[in-house]
Amino acid sequence: MKIYWKRLKKITEEITNKKVEIIMNIENSNLRGAIQSNHKIIIYLNMSYNKSINDIIKTLAHEITHYLLQDKEHTNEFIMKCDEVEKLIKEKYKGGEKWNFIHKIVILLCCVEQ
Ligand SMILES: [Zn+2]
Repeated sequence: MKIYWKRLKKITEEITNKKVEIIMNIENSNLRGAIQSNHKIIIYLNMSYNKSINDIIKTLAHEITHYLLQDKEHTNEFIMKCDEVEKLIKEKYKGGEKWNFIHKIVILLCCVEQ
């Protein structure tokens, strides 16, 4: 399954209101991901644990929530916010797919008309 990385990057930038760089690695650790923020945000994804789009969105949501709450702890507030962010990313990600589909139809119609 194709993963739209540019779309994911854009979504994370919209939510955090910062430039985001997503770095993939295969680290021999039990970390699924990590986040670092400075003038821009760097999100590390451990690809050993992020195999599907659902895994990736879950990890991105988790890391972004750490940034949004400026908290390293996994409090109840964190869990609730993380859930919210995950839903938002999923919505925006799917929304992009719908747009792509419409765009393709429009192009197809144009071709037919010529
Ligand atoms: Zn965490």
